[in-house]
Amino acid sequence: MTNRPMIPITRVEIGAEEEAEVLEVLRSGQLAQGPKVAALEQAFVELTGARHAIAVSNGTISLVASLQALELAPGAEVVTSPFTFVATVNAALEAGATVRFADIDPTSYLIDPDAVAAAIGPSTAVVMPVHLYGQAADMGALMPLATSVGAAVVEDAAQAHGAEFEGRRVGSFGIGSFSLYATKNVMTGEGGIITTSDDSIADRLRLLRNQGMRVRYQYEVAGHNYRLTDLQAAVGLPQMRRLHERTEARRRNAAGLSERLSGIEGLSLPTEIQGRLHVWHQYTVRVTGDARCDRDAVVEGLGAAGIGCGVYYPKAAYDYDSYRDHPRVVGASCPHAERAAREVLSLPVHPSLTEHDLDRIAEAVYVLLGAPS
Ligand SMILES: *Cc1c(COP(=O)(O)O)cnc(C)c1O
Repeated sequence: MTNRPMIPITRVEIGAEEEAEVLEVLRSGQLAQGPKVAALEQAFVELTGARHAIAVSNGTISLVASLQALELAPGAEVVTSPFTFVATVNAALEAGATVRFADIDPTSYLIDPDAVAAAIGPSTAVVMPVHLYGQAADMGALMPLATSVGAAVVEDAAQAHGAEFEGRRVGSFGIGSFSLYATKNVMTGEGGIITTSDDSIADRLRLLRNQGMRVRYQYEVAGHNYRLTDLQAAVGLPQMRRLHERTEARRRNAAGLSERLSGIEGLSLPTEIQGRLHVWHQYTVRVTGDARCDRDAVVEGLGAAGIGCGVYYPKAAYDYDSYRDHPRVVGASCPHAERAAREVLSLPVHPSLTEHDLDRIAEAVYVLLGAPS
């Protein structure tokens, strides 16, 4: 076998445009929050259709600040998915909330509105869906559910820049929280963006971000330093300009993978739900019981064949010691999330894949699970 290069699960694409933007910041001498941050915020206003975008230092902080801006009462509960990156849970705990989990839909891996309906009640202050893998949660069902108990909605859109639900962009339903971490669809190394159409929430977020200060040395609330730097924002600006094209490339790659991988016994492929625009942060398959080998063997075999893959996520969030006995995490049993955690794996879908890469990925899967029938 010839030595073929590894196909990574994610690839950073930074070019001359990013270099030029960053150089401009370096030469301006203004490295902290300034015009580049303002331009990045404007790009998110345009992307989401929300009235305001507030840049912060990372995606976890964007969730924390969103919850802080809601001024939750003690004992307030956040209802969210256990099948997510732990930042979702950590942010709710950091903001002083109690976390209650609602199980996912087994096909889309998104929080199931029926499970949310069963989990919400008078203590629910926030419903926090995760637009997992780049596909919007069922906002049509979730918004009225939240309203029915007077809860706010915070969308964890860390993986879903530009995703849509029935023609409307994520981040425009509730308070939107985006991550700009190095592996996300738009990245600045570290960074986060909050979107909202509520003027007073936006105002509070800007205060919280900057030590509670509106006018120099006049502190209106106890705030923090949540600011993003212009150096980082400069890296994100060209990516926002290319986002549509890059999302289209992800969509083509996802379609190309599905074409090659359909009909393999024991392999369930991801789907784009009717009426949602999936931005394919991850292309996540499920290796079921009737497959030739289990998920972990597929991960190992693909790794040996030079195909990077990832398991997002290996456990339901409540299944970690740090949360199992946490006084503010409500004990849960979410069988769909637990089963998904044992069976899913994500294949490369990033924009720099070639047709040849897609062939290689598919062939490596055929070797392990058999060719399509
Ligand atoms: C990446 C991510 C976050 C946190 O973002 P950071 O920028 O890494 O702090 C939160 N939620 C989800 C679902 C994520 O994927």
